[in-house]
Amino acid sequence: VIAAEGSPFSLANLPFGVARGRAHLALGERAIDLVEAAPLLDLDPSIVDGRRLDGLLAAGPATWRGVRAAIQEDPERFEPAMVDRASLHMELPVTIGDYVDGYGGIHHASTCGQIFRPDTDGLTPNYRSVPVAYHGRSGTIVVSGTDIRRPAGQVLVDGAPVLAPTAMLDFELELGVIVGVGNEPGRPIPVDRADEHLFGYVLVNDWSARDVQAWESMPLGPYLGKSFATSISPWVITIDALAPHRVVGLAGEQDPPPLSYLRGDPAVPDLHLSVDVDGERVTDVDLAPSLYWTAAQQLAHATVNGATVRPGDLFASGTISGTDRLTQSGSLLERTWRGTEGRFLQDGDVVVMDGRVGDVGFGGLTGRIVEA
Ligand code: CA
Repeated sequence: VIAAEGSPFSLANLPFGVARGRAHLALGERAIDLVEAAPLLDLDPSIVDGRRLDGLLAAGPATWRGVRAAIQEDPERFEPAMVDRASLHMELPVTIGDYVDGYGGIHHASTCGQIFRPDTDGLTPNYRSVPVAYHGRSGTIVVSGTDIRRPAGQVLVDGAPVLAPTAMLDFELELGVIVGVGNEPGRPIPVDRADEHLFGYVLVNDWSARDVQAWESMPLGPYLGKSFATSISPWVITIDALAPHRVVGLAGEQDPPPLSYLRGDPAVPDLHLSVDVDGERVTDVDLAPSLYWTAAQQLAHATVNGATVRPGDLFASGTISGTDRLTQSGSLLERTWRGTEGRFLQDGDVVVMDGRVGDVGFGGLTGRIVEA
């Protein structure tokens, strides 16, 4: 009998991950080795035997849907291909192509704006029109469990720039989506077809050096303050697994209504997200009341100029924060009002993020700070 009751890795979830260079599916305390299971699935084993899930993505939605459906239908049949999940050393699930980080968490955008522009609502005039974002550094995306070395950069000391380890190291709690199916150049993805291009979700920790970021971002935005590392969770929850858990939240109340190319189904996964620092819960926040721009809108916007997306591209939501700054902040920048009401991350701190709805969850995203 396969015990998955109470686990975030229920039979309804069956997320994909990579260990020992092979694709696996998590189920309760166990994982199904898809190379071993390939004969039972009528699957060419070379599709699931590689350093990443890239072969599976290339095979297309019918293949990855077929794999999950066959296992859900009769999981006991796959017992011979199961391994103890705790024995697996998880690897980066996909080769990340382009990485875009959004700014869709409106309470985060508003609070951060107010820290730097007091006496305003913090939002720039374009916020409710453009799903703003910047292109991040895909080559430094790392899997959960990877230590994060405190980065050095240009910071201001007594008003003068010096090269020094950051004194304002922060986390950012985000939801990421991985593209499964690309588009042709010059062929934008319609917002109501965007889900057909998505493979699944991961949690994202967009580590940020706030002092480096503040000095360098004028006028082009984040660079070294965020490029040193971005952590993602190892198990990719498919779009299908979260489809029954979609709800309409803040994205259903967009005001003013966005331009027509951004008008689509406003539902998002009804995920509850959390952050622990050194075992202490610092953040509990629901996604739906906090996310202004959906992943579908991000994808429609990113391609409306004719740009392409490719399988393995990652789009992150932007930091997810609720309205209560002390208990629902997706970053320490907000929680500590830029360090004036508490500290940023110290060497040795362990940050654990998680997200769950019902019997579908990520199983955690961990990173430990080590000294420069
Ligand atoms: Ca971010």
